[in-house]
Amino acid sequence: MFATAMSQLRYGASILTNRRIRPGDLERLARDLVATIAEFGEPGEDSALLPGRAGHVDPRLRREVARRSLRATARAAARHTAYYRRQFTELCLDPAELEPEDWSRIPVTPKQALRALPAAFVSDAASPALMALTTGTSGTPTAVWFSRTEIESAIAFSTISAVLGLGLRPRHTVAYAGCSRATLPLVYAEESTTRTGAGFVQFGTVEPALALDRLAAPLGLPGRDPQITHLTTSASYLAALVQEAEQQNWRSADFGLESISVGGEVLSAPLRRRAEAVLGATVSSAYLMTEILPSGATPCTGGHLHHTTEFGHLEVLDPVSREPTAPGGIGTLVHTPYVPYRECTLLLRYATGDLVRLPAEPPECELAHLPATSEILGRWNGPLSTTVTTREVLDLVEAEPEVPLPARYALTAAPGSSPDDPGGRARLHLLVGGPPATALLGRLEERAAAAGLRLSDIVLHEDRSTMPPTTPVRADLREHSFETGGDRGPGGTE
Ligand SMILES: [Zn+2]
Repeated sequence: MFATAMSQLRYGASILTNRRIRPGDLERLARDLVATIAEFGEPGEDSALLPGRAGHVDPRLRREVARRSLRATARAAARHTAYYRRQFTELCLDPAELEPEDWSRIPVTPKQALRALPAAFVSDAASPALMALTTGTSGTPTAVWFSRTEIESAIAFSTISAVLGLGLRPRHTVAYAGCSRATLPLVYAEESTTRTGAGFVQFGTVEPALALDRLAAPLGLPGRDPQITHLTTSASYLAALVQEAEQQNWRSADFGLESISVGGEVLSAPLRRRAEAVLGATVSSAYLMTEILPSGATPCTGGHLHHTTEFGHLEVLDPVSREPTAPGGIGTLVHTPYVPYRECTLLLRYATGDLVRLPAEPPECELAHLPATSEILGRWNGPLSTTVTTREVLDLVEAEPEVPLPARYALTAAPGSSPDDPGGRARLHLLVGGPPATALLGRLEERAAAAGLRLSDIVLHEDRSTMPPTTPVRADLREHSFETGGDRGPGGTE
């Protein structure tokens, strides 16, 4: 216990002085939490104070920590990275003198800058160990280098969050149905799961029928629940699983799933409901992004996303003017991950491109002490992406069982209008399974009007080749398997 107390103290001191974190201290905290649960069945009373738990902090102290963290991060970036060294010289800005009011003088870092030259953002004081490549559904993947220290600290954070947030215990087994090439999330998921004592299996993004068979299969392990209890995947792959399960008449009783965690893509409300019905587990979606790790956001019961202030600084800015978004308005998340959590790839005011709406009124939910936004609405790729957001489209189309999942759609400017018209409308092109269904179109139009979507019209397509290009989704990164499809479904393989 003395060693743990020392780790806690040293961790606290590193944070207050922005000194390097010792991964061993964090690892000891995570290990002690798992041991406490093994012995007492419950986390200790002080677990709310563990790193990443977003405990209540005096707002004045939080402002002071933010001031020091921003300054320390800017100083490290200006001193140690080629990109920001040049930028601060050109701006004649001394990072050591930086006050929060000056923060907006630092230009927003566009995604393209990092994508074009990842090495220009790597600190010359760090040892790059692992290059994490984002999935790149929006084009070229972005490369982000991480050091061993960063990886080890982040694994400790995710172990703590797996125990306290997800409630992982040694009786559980977690299946990971994410792309096998995405090393970093895979390493985090595997390491944090097995450190809690739970089991882990990597499915990859195989044919959905195979994944359902594996989820339903008995494990037969002593001391473990009889089937897989947790699933981690992307929203589009979950959509593919839901479609397969519904069509093959799987029932929730066929599975032992308790919880499904979805990340990386917009999870619509109807997809969540359908997944909960057919797979029999609660579905939740947190916000994580490779570039800003270990920062992220957690959903609350009020429907917001609440962003951690511990690991980084969040701004919500207009995607074009870069001015702060007003309450009630839509903007993009711009994030500065803090040193010392980050030491290798350093980013200041990084434009994630992820769209959110700011609450019109201050929230009164259980996480009201943390900055709140709406759930992610989609990704900024021009004015049409805010005319009708990805979330609005998916909430509309994924409620209709006739629409094949994952949904394939495209937005174009309404006939006779310009996509840049701020008051403009969009035409929705949607792929459907069979001959154009009049009833389906009628329902979609009615629901779109009732939801107040800025759609001019909806065009159903039977053939994908007649559609404008649709956005790729993560479920498209299908991994082949030697297992054959064969007779599938709950009774098919007995
Ligand atoms: Zn909330």
